[in-house]
Amino acid sequence: MTRVRFYRDLGITEFYRRPVDPALLAQLAAAAEVQQTPGAQEPVSEIGDSDSQPVLLQEDNLISPRKSIPAPPQVAAEVPVAERAAALQLIRDEIGDCTRCPLHKGRNKLVYGDGSPTARLMFVGEGPGADEDAQGLPFVGRAGQLLNNMITAMGLKREEVYIANVVKCRPPGNRVPEPEEIATCSPFLFHQIDVIRPQVLVALGATAATCLLGQRQPLAGLRGRVHAFRGTQLIVTYHPAYLLRDPRQKKEAWADLQIAMRELGLKPPKRG
Ligand code: URA
Repeated sequence: MTRVRFYRDLGITEFYRRPVDPALLAQLAAAAEVQQTPGAQEPVSEIGDSDSQPVLLQEDNLISPRKSIPAPPQVAAEVPVAERAAALQLIRDEIGDCTRCPLHKGRNKLVYGDGSPTARLMFVGEGPGADEDAQGLPFVGRAGQLLNNMITAMGLKREEVYIANVVKCRPPGNRVPEPEEIATCSPFLFHQIDVIRPQVLVALGATAATCLLGQRQPLAGLRGRVHAFRGTQLIVTYHPAYLLRDPRQKKEAWADLQIAMRELGLKPPKRG
């Protein structure tokens, strides 16, 4: 009861599914099918690149905007800095040994999130791959190494930022998470964001951008600018796994990260 009251004080009232419009789910499912047809539309990106059976994801698809998107939970009250670690632990405890969606069946370790509870910068990816599932930590495979390099290039240490995913359990074969799975899991992500309240949030790839912004648009239309989001500044960029497939886009991603740095008042570290 004390815990429930604490959640309520934080403004965290929804831990289970947001109400989902069945018509919307059908739309999302249709879109996911298009996404999983390799080469159906270009460019595509690989998610969970550390795996032997990569699934291809459109980084810049042309799926038309949704009529409606499941409403995110209400923004929670600000948590005092000194209580953020405990609040994150409460959310983790609430998730528990989760069986809320079918993804739990293939899970080795649930990947909750990693980093500083008081981070000014937070990254959101799509979902764990094989390495993350084995270690219980986000972005520890090849894509994670690239993300680490991106963080270093920004003049930050990985421990200073926070990293989480849209879904906390690895989708089989690294497929794109199903709309129902996203609808079930993402409220926990929204609560993590509300607790950390980063100054800048970076959505890595189309799944994260769609989940956070609640609008399906080509990634190209979402990149390169700041979106006001739950009291933070949201920036959309390419998923590191996509950048591993198409390193030419790294320049574009760096331009996005520079927007994040500008918002954070950071200057790139001097080389040499
Ligand atoms: N890709 C993601 O989206 N998240 C991870 O944690 C790892 C790879």
